[in-house]
Amino acid sequence: MSHGNMKTTKLIPYSGVDEIGGVKILVSTDETSIFLDFGKPMSRWKKYYDFPYLMPKSISQLIAFNIIPGEDDNLRGLYTVKHDVEDYGIEKEPETCIEAVFISHMHLDHFGHVPLLNRKIKVYAGRVTYLLCQAYKLHSQKISVENDLDHLDTKHENFKVFRYGDKIKVGDLEVTPIPVDHSIPGAYAFLIDTGEHRIVYTGDIRWHGPANFLTTNFVKKASEFEPDLMLCDATRFDKADLNTEEDVRRRMLTVARECRGVLVTSLSPVDIDRVNTVCKIADEAGRTVVMDMSMASKIARLHGLGIRNYPNLSRIFVLKPSKLYRRWQKLFMKHLTGEEITARNGLEEAEEKLGKLFAGAIEIDEIAEKPHEFALATTPYSLKELSELSHRIGYSTSGGVYIASISEPFEEEMEIKFERVKNWIESLGLAYYHIHSSGHAHPFDIAKMISEIKPKTVSPVHSMHSTVFQKFINRYANVKLLKCGVEHCIGK
Ligand SMILES: [Zn+2]
Ligand SMILES: [Zn+2]
Repeated sequence: MSHGNMKTTKLIPYSGVDEIGGVKILVSTDETSIFLDFGKPMSRWKKYYDFPYLMPKSISQLIAFNIIPGEDDNLRGLYTVKHDVEDYGIEKEPETCIEAVFISHMHLDHFGHVPLLNRKIKVYAGRVTYLLCQAYKLHSQKISVENDLDHLDTKHENFKVFRYGDKIKVGDLEVTPIPVDHSIPGAYAFLIDTGEHRIVYTGDIRWHGPANFLTTNFVKKASEFEPDLMLCDATRFDKADLNTEEDVRRRMLTVARECRGVLVTSLSPVDIDRVNTVCKIADEAGRTVVMDMSMASKIARLHGLGIRNYPNLSRIFVLKPSKLYRRWQKLFMKHLTGEEITARNGLEEAEEKLGKLFAGAIEIDEIAEKPHEFALATTPYSLKELSELSHRIGYSTSGGVYIASISEPFEEEMEIKFERVKNWIESLGLAYYHIHSSGHAHPFDIAKMISEIKPKTVSPVHSMHSTVFQKFINRYANVKLLKCGVEHCIGK
C-alpha cells in the first residue's frame, strides 16, 4: 500500500491527561469515531460544584466551565437533548458522528459522564461494571443531568455488555477488551485495531494485586498486538511504594490483634480485594465484621458472580443507622426490621433480596458496649459512624484504632474531608494507622510492562506527573506527551 492511501488515525484526549482521571479519549479514523472512557474530571468539576448541594444545571454550563468539551466537527451530536426537548424519545436525539463509548471500569473518573451522552451512541461495558452501575443508579438521586442513568440498562438498545474473548466491530475499528488487575473488579484494558494502526489503552492498571495474573495475560496479549501507541496509566510517578495486598493483610492483622477497643476501618466498598482482606483479618483477630449500609448494598450486588476474593456475606453484619431515611435502605433492612414497605420496581426488589444475604443488623449501641468484639468497615471519609460512636460512648473509646485503607488525599477537597475525619479520630482518642496498597502500578512495574509490550510510542494518561514519566520511561521506550484538546495523528 502506498503511503498516500494509508488511513490516518487521530487521537484527541479531552481530559484525563494531566490530571488524575476524567479520561475521555477520542479515537477516529476517516470513517469511525469512538471514545475510550467517558469519565468525570473531578478536579475541574470541584472548582465550580459541591456535591450534592451545588450541582450542574445543564450540559452547556459544564461546557462553559471547560469541564466537558463543546461540540465541534469532531464531536457532532455528542450530547443528549433529553433535558431540553418536550416529549423526549430517542428519535429526538440529533445525528452524531460518534459511534460508541468503551468504559474500562466503574470508577467515576472513567464512567461518570456517560449520562450526558446522546442515547444514539452505543455504550460498551463489562458485566461487573454493568452490575455496579445498577447499584450506583439506585443510590444516586436524579439530582442533576449527570445522574440520569436511565439508558444504562440491558433493555436499552444501545447499552452493550461485553466479555473477555469478544472482539467488537465498530465501523472500521475492532476493539478487544482484556481484563486487568485494578482496585475494583471487572476492570479492562482495550486493544484497538484500525486496520492501519494499533492502539493499546491500559485503563487503570496494577501488577501487584491479587489478580496480577490478569495483568500478566494483558501484557502478553498487548505485546502480540505490536501496538503503534500505548496509552499508559501513569498515576504514580510522583510517589510510589511497593505495598501489596498481602502486606496490607499482615499489617492490618497486627493492628487488629493489638487493638483492645473499637476497630474502625475505612475502605472503598467496590475494592473487593480490600473488603476481603478486612474480613480475613477480623476473622483471625476474633472480631465480627459490621459494614455500613452503603458498602453492604454495593458488595451484595456482586454476589454470585464468581468474583475472586468475594467475602462470605452470611458472616457479615450490617450497621443499622439510627434512622432509615431512604426507600432502598428500608427495603434493604426490611427482613431485619419487619417494617411494612413494598418495592416499586425491579431495582428495589433486588435491594430487598440483597439485604437477606447478610447475617443480620447491629446497632451502634451494641458496638459501643462490646467494642473489642467488632470490626467496623466504613466508606471513605464517612463520619456518621464516628459521630454515633462519640454520641454513645462519649470521648472514652479507650484503646481503639482507626485504619485508613485508602489512598492519601491528592486533592484539596479530599484534604479538607481528611482533616475533618482526623479531628473526629482525635476527639475519640483512636490511634490512626494508614495501611494501603494502590490500585495503580508503580514506576518499575510500568517500565516492565512497556519493555515487554514494546509499543512504537507510549503516552502517559491519568497523571499529574507526565514529565516525570517522560524522563523516566525514555530509557525504555519512545515517549510522546499528549495535550488536552490537541489532535495527535498516529504514524506521523
Ligand atoms: Zn481512574
Ligand atoms: Zn480506577
